Amino acid sequence: QQGGQQLSDSKIRVVVRKRPINKKEVERGDEDVVEMDMRNSCVLVNETKLKVDLTKYAERHQFHFDEALDEYVTNDQVYRVTVEPLVHTLFHNGKATCFAYGQTGSGKTHTMSPLPIRAAADILQYLVRPELRDVSLFVSCFEIYGNKCFDLLNMRKKLNILEDGKKKVCVVGLKEHTVNDVEVVKQLIEEANHRRSVGSTAANADSSRSHSIMQFALKRFIAGGAHCRLVGKLSFIDLAGSERGADTFDNNRQTRLEGAEINKSLLALKECIRALDSDARHVPFRGSKLTAVLRDSFVGETARTVMIANISPTATCVEHTLNTLRYADRVKEL
Ligand code: ADP
Ligand code: MG
Repeated sequence: QQGGQQLSDSKIRVVVRKRPINKKEVERGDEDVVEMDMRNSCVLVNETKLKVDLTKYAERHQFHFDEALDEYVTNDQVYRVTVEPLVHTLFHNGKATCFAYGQTGSGKTHTMSPLPIRAAADILQYLVRPELRDVSLFVSCFEIYGNKCFDLLNMRKKLNILEDGKKKVCVVGLKEHTVNDVEVVKQLIEEANHRRSVGSTAANADSSRSHSIMQFALKRFIAGGAHCRLVGKLSFIDLAGSERGADTFDNNRQTRLEGAEINKSLLALKECIRALDSDARHVPFRGSKLTAVLRDSFVGETARTVMIANISPTATCVEHTLNTLRYADRVKEL
């Protein structure tokens, strides 16, 4: 069997990761109010330590997930419980996606950046096998900012999202880089992170308002290299800050429009992920640019998704933390 391992059974996995409290937070007297029970995969928001009134959240303060990772868990351990199982999917004609969801500053980029590097190392190891001699790894990365799309690995070139005759949505002109070496993936990630934060010109264009999508495509060259066929696809998505979806009430028109778009895309995303686990007839792929471009990663028996919900530990962030836990909870709820 190519890839060595069978596909994992669950199509959707939800993993929560708490980041450590930092010096600045400690210095201003903020407190860690989040307890992770790794054995029972649950997250507890400790009310007794809180200075804010939480009664409006009283419905439920304990959340269960597939994995609950505390602040001592390393990026390597995160890889093992999230993306490593997806790499096998890739070799079984599969589509797999890993999302990082959470408020700005909760650790999304810290969590996501190392994952493609580890995945590329594993994938490249498979590719040395003789039966995979004709298969190559391609890497691309783009950003969805409001309604626009930019190539993060090609000087922030503006890209068009178009629908072809078969209603298939594609990102036109996206540059794909062939990768034979993990070091190259590292450089590409640095380049993409750099382009995402400083490459834009609009005054308020910051990474918390955009979704970044890095995609690995495995392609098999056929007919002596004249054509290639997609073997599998793995996407790494660093979502816009979840709190940005609430900017819909902001006084600034631009901010409000962006907030509305982010809100729409995060809601559509939740519905599309949930549809993986049911035979829902109507899946709102067209509800946002984000879900439209990810459509082919959500359909089919072999599609797999991991959602990493990143949370901050502090009392100050507790409302956002509860929102994130609730979102992650609903992604899987049947
Ligand atoms: P986000 O992308 O969600 O806005 P970041 O990934 O930029 O958040 O994280 C915010 C800050 O916290 C960064 O300085 C980052 O290095 C740090 N951080 C996040 N998660 C961890 C962690 N698990 N361990 C140590 N530092 C972390
Ligand atoms: Mg970030």
